[in-house]
Amino acid sequence: MAKVVIGISGNIKTMPTGSGWTYDAVPRSLSDSIKEAGGLPFIIPVGDPELAADYVASIDKLILSGGQNVDPRLYGEEKTVSSSDYSSERDVFELALIKEALRQKKPIFAVCRGMQLVNVALGGTLHQAVTDHWQDYEEVTSHTLEVKKGSKISQFFQDGNSINSYHRQSVKDLAPQLEVTARDPRDGTIEAVEGTHGHAIIGFQWHPEFLREHCQKHRSFFNYLVHQF
Ligand code: MN
Repeated sequence: MAKVVIGISGNIKTMPTGSGWTYDAVPRSLSDSIKEAGGLPFIIPVGDPELAADYVASIDKLILSGGQNVDPRLYGEEKTVSSSDYSSERDVFELALIKEALRQKKPIFAVCRGMQLVNVALGGTLHQAVTDHWQDYEEVTSHTLEVKKGSKISQFFQDGNSINSYHRQSVKDLAPQLEVTARDPRDGTIEAVEGTHGHAIIGFQWHPEFLREHCQKHRSFFNYLVHQF
């Protein structure tokens, strides 16, 4: 049987630092998660938004990977933080991928920045600066979840499960076509969303790809993404 083709949106990385040599990159933990689950991952390089329709037509499902903050002008606000971690080129291209995936009815799984961008694409807004959601790399997890009963992800994750946290922004006003399916019980931060109105969308504010190696729940979730979602 043909493998499920999963396009993963790439980031733009300069290697070595300062060299000016740029590469299309996704975390190997993410592409490995898809391979391990039996899917066939491809990197979709940031590029001309006009190519989005062809890229989406050639995949079964879309994963939006993590990375930069989302430009607040996309949700009608001025930047209020001093960070320079933004990429307009990537924002514009990935917004085109999201639009096409919705139009072509291809499922979207959105990680971290990806979830924030999907929320903005559908009319939501973001908190530009949140505290207590950036952990040191040595730590595996740093806070727990409160999961909505009956949600897709409740098949895999339950109240009290621990997750990692590498985000400086979060969802503020939720887009009308999304529902919240998990929160951080400490402060109510939205940690997962799912699409309503027939949109096959799952978004995680955490990075499941970093946890799957040591967590059966996360491996089961990636199996679901590839084979059932
Ligand atoms: Mn968090």
